[in-house]
Amino acid sequence: MAILRFSALQMAQSRQPKEVKVPASKISEFYGSHVFYLHTAEAYLSSANYKRLCATIESGEKIDVELADAVASAMKTWAVERGVTHFTHWFQPLRGTTAEKHDSFFELNNKGQAIERFKGGELIKQEPDASSFPSGGLRNTFEARGYTAWDSSSPAFIHESGSIKTLCVPSIFVSYTGVALDYKTPLLKSLDLLNKAATAVCQYFDKEVTKVTATLGIEQEYFLVDKALAMARPDLVLCGRTIFGHSPARGQQLSDHYFGSIPLRVKSFMQDFENEALKLGIPVRTRHNEVAPSQYECAPLFEEVNLAVDHNSLLMDVMNRVAEAHDFKILFHEKPFAGINGSGKHNNWSLQTNTGRNLLAPSSKPKENLQFLVFFVNVIKAVHTYADLMRAGIATASNDFRLGGHEAPPAIMSVFIGKQLSSVLDELEKNATLAIGKGENMYMKLGIDKVPPILLDNTDRNRTSPFAFTGNKFEFRAVGSSANSANPMMILNSIVADQLMEFHKEVESRSKDGQKRELVIIDILRDYIRSSKAIRFEGDGYSEEWAKEAQKRGLKNIKNSAHALEIYGQNHIKALFSKLGIFSEIELEARQEIEYDKYVLQVQIESRLINDLAQSHIVPAALAYQNRLAENIKHLRDLGLEKEAKERMELLQTVSGHISTILKNSSDMLEARKKANVLDTKAAALAYCDKVKPYFDKIRKSVDELELLIDDELWTLPKYRELLFIK
Ligand code: ADP
Ligand code: MG
Repeated sequence: MAILRFSALQMAQSRQPKEVKVPASKISEFYGSHVFYLHTAEAYLSSANYKRLCATIESGEKIDVELADAVASAMKTWAVERGVTHFTHWFQPLRGTTAEKHDSFFELNNKGQAIERFKGGELIKQEPDASSFPSGGLRNTFEARGYTAWDSSSPAFIHESGSIKTLCVPSIFVSYTGVALDYKTPLLKSLDLLNKAATAVCQYFDKEVTKVTATLGIEQEYFLVDKALAMARPDLVLCGRTIFGHSPARGQQLSDHYFGSIPLRVKSFMQDFENEALKLGIPVRTRHNEVAPSQYECAPLFEEVNLAVDHNSLLMDVMNRVAEAHDFKILFHEKPFAGINGSGKHNNWSLQTNTGRNLLAPSSKPKENLQFLVFFVNVIKAVHTYADLMRAGIATASNDFRLGGHEAPPAIMSVFIGKQLSSVLDELEKNATLAIGKGENMYMKLGIDKVPPILLDNTDRNRTSPFAFTGNKFEFRAVGSSANSANPMMILNSIVADQLMEFHKEVESRSKDGQKRELVIIDILRDYIRSSKAIRFEGDGYSEEWAKEAQKRGLKNIKNSAHALEIYGQNHIKALFSKLGIFSEIELEARQEIEYDKYVLQVQIESRLINDLAQSHIVPAALAYQNRLAENIKHLRDLGLEKEAKERMELLQTVSGHISTILKNSSDMLEARKKANVLDTKAAALAYCDKVKPYFDKIRKSVDELELLIDDELWTLPKYRELLFIK
């Protein structure tokens, strides 16, 4: 009997919801209690130093040593009061998770007495032993080691793990020569560029605008599986997804999970991780069931992009830890289960001015609406120009299982804007000659006044689009649930910044003396609407027709990430990033190399595990069952029951056929892997994609058929119905 599976089932079924400790009766009483905000600093700094700190952060300038010492000392005092003993620079290396290297505040003074100290130099800079972080050959080319540097725009926080408390200083990670080795550095650069480009354009409409901030609200989808059951599935432990598993008799057909109430055990997990997140100043607000059984979502209030990205990384970490404490395994994988919905990380993105305007919110005032249209159309144009780059930005081996699958956006990039705005753009496009009225009435002819003041109809949604306008923001839905949003957001910021700079240049060069600037702007928008039309799609993104239509429009459908990553090597992409000063050619090459490498490792691990599980779990169970059948056939024959024996023989042959298919394909896959392993990184990624991965489905098909045929008692891996419905 499959002992581990059945003891796990027993354990899972006997669980009770965990008691949740509530930090205070109201969220407002404990929100951000673990964060060293600027206003927290005020109480620990002299008023002169506090003012200087505010000014430095506002201007983004370098902090001097003296001030750094004062701030570090303030942070230490605040942290030690809260039981913190260690500090670390907290950063996001390119392998995807976050990294830390802890040092304690403990020091000996010149009398040999123990004291707590945190020096300015340590706050500003730390040198992790970086030799094991991926760098795409960069550190060999440039410098052996890198350092982390304080990102003062994201506040320090206390990370709590059991009784261990650590002060975490959000940081960037760069080589000694200034080459970025992380996700945050290019993100910060792109945000700075976007601010400058958008502010320059805003100046056409409102001289008060001196700063534009990109905002981001990340909806995070995930699955929860009982920990004991997950531990009995080596694929969930090692890959975060099930590589085998027949769909259960009941999947998500009934859609009852989505509307159903959240089970108590899950609810107490949610309450618990939300409390932890809120203490860390992560403004989580929304929680609900998702479409698939055992799938859920949480969403915070939106924040400035850099902060939102940091908070999402931190949130995933908190959720992992709290899930463990509630005897769950949390799955952030894009497609943990075949045949039911996968998980995404919907990146809701917009632009906000220092005067408090959301630049992507239509308004009732014609003048503001022209400004809205400028930003709206420029974003669409940017996505049209760089659709392939957007695709590359979400390319991972794990997201490939989701894109184009069950209820997930396809790998074709397109933009959905809804009926109302489509007709506004259509009207603007067709209206070749413009009759201008006086003053505010100037835009009436365009139908712009039809955009109602109460924004747009919120029900006009399209869940099949990878990039959808949702009333006052764009929602990039194709981002994978396990991804770090920094990369796709860096790309979006960069291409929009580039497009806005281009737009600004065109306005300047087309403006002639005495001509109304609004007219020039409208002319340019009209050109943009025409030239970017192919990217707009309002229909069903899941349909076959769309794939065909997209092909006619010249839009790419790059289903495999290994191929999508090739875009980083193209000359116009290299030129874009060097022009923007975000990546040099070598840096971009290094990033591409790292992405290929990650792809290879992911597919390689899965492929090895498929071999392993097929041979050590599936085939032995099938053989045992086959033996039982053979014995049964012999008995039937002894009893003279020839007809029955023949029928049983057919079953035995089916089982036997599947065993052969599994063994043959496993050994062919092993050979394909051996060939891929000797290639250089890019060729290896392509080989893993085109030559190794195709075996996954072939092997899985037979394994899943066997799951239905074989005696349940012999089956070692917890089944989908158990993973998905027991909680
Ligand atoms: P839904 O898409 O489920 O209707 P919401 O309207 O609640 O969701 O928004 C989802 C996410 O979008 C939330 O994180 C929310 O804070 C965020 N969001 C709302 N407005 C903006 C904005 N102007 N910029 C960025 N994100 C936003
Ligand atoms: Mg949404």
